[in-house]
Amino acid sequence: ATPTALLVGTGRGAQLGILIKGPQVLESTRRVDTIVLDKTGTVTTGRMTLAAVFPATGVDEAQLLRLTGSAEDGSEHPIAAAIVAGAKAQVGALPAAESFTSEQGFGVQALVEGHLVLVGRPRWLAEQWSIELPAELRTALDASEAQGRTAVAVAWDGQARGILAVSDVVKPTSRAAVAEFLRLGLRPILLTGDNEIVARAVGSEVGITEVIAGVLPAEKADVILALQKEGRVVAMVGDGVNDAVALASADLGIAMGTGTDVAIEAGDLTLVRADLIAAADAIRLSRRTLTTIK
Ligand code: ADP
Ligand code: MG
Repeated sequence: ATPTALLVGTGRGAQLGILIKGPQVLESTRRVDTIVLDKTGTVTTGRMTLAAVFPATGVDEAQLLRLTGSAEDGSEHPIAAAIVAGAKAQVGALPAAESFTSEQGFGVQALVEGHLVLVGRPRWLAEQWSIELPAELRTALDASEAQGRTAVAVAWDGQARGILAVSDVVKPTSRAAVAEFLRLGLRPILLTGDNEIVARAVGSEVGITEVIAGVLPAEKADVILALQKEGRVVAMVGDGVNDAVALASADLGIAMGTGTDVAIEAGDLTLVRADLIAAADAIRLSRRTLTTIK
């Protein structure tokens, strides 16, 4: 490929709302045969809403919302945003939390009104904090996931106190974009830290049958490397801090322009529009640019 042709491709990319880090990026796009898609914020809007609240026996619902909302106030995760907004709408102003910490891909902990509050993946609460869910909360969790919702567990002072379910919606253009990837001969894979049942529900909504779920942020890059070991040339599309290493490991890292700065820095391409159609445009553009100059 001549440098001039690649630069023309780069300019056309900008017109399509695709920001390319350098002309060399188009070159590496040519052989891409697999496209890995992050779920939350990439295939879905990531604008989650609090859908249901299940307090454990003896726990006051308003208290559950106050403490959980306060603990999540320091987190930038879409789940946290949904919980904070939902809690404020139902109980008003939230108390301030102290000593907030978050663990990427697992959950958050904070001190609220003297209680050590934990909110996150039920398995994280079990394995890291030895907090088991009573049967009634386990039932609420299973029922929420069966409905395609993401459920998080809440505990304070060493005991499970409730389940909160949040729901997300698929972006209106995601299904058409997946059809376009298939037309381009790409194998689409949905990759997420969320649980398998929710991931499969989203996958079937957009036409993706291959789903890799329950993946920790640190493991997302391993999934990319494993595919590359099979001889695949992999594009990865993501938006989150938790996608950055995977974006950098992929043969082509595509960041959503609405995503976090870390993801944008890690990607080779940035999509200005928050939809996946632009990812298909980018792959088509690079193929066309390279065919023209052969
Ligand atoms: P994704 O890959 O879909 O972007 P993440 O890796 O960010 O998902 O998160 C995976 C899981 O970790 C979530 O489904 C949730 O159970 C838990 N989690 C992460 N951050 C938080 C948070 N701030 N509050 C509650 N749960 C969280
Ligand atoms: Mg995401």
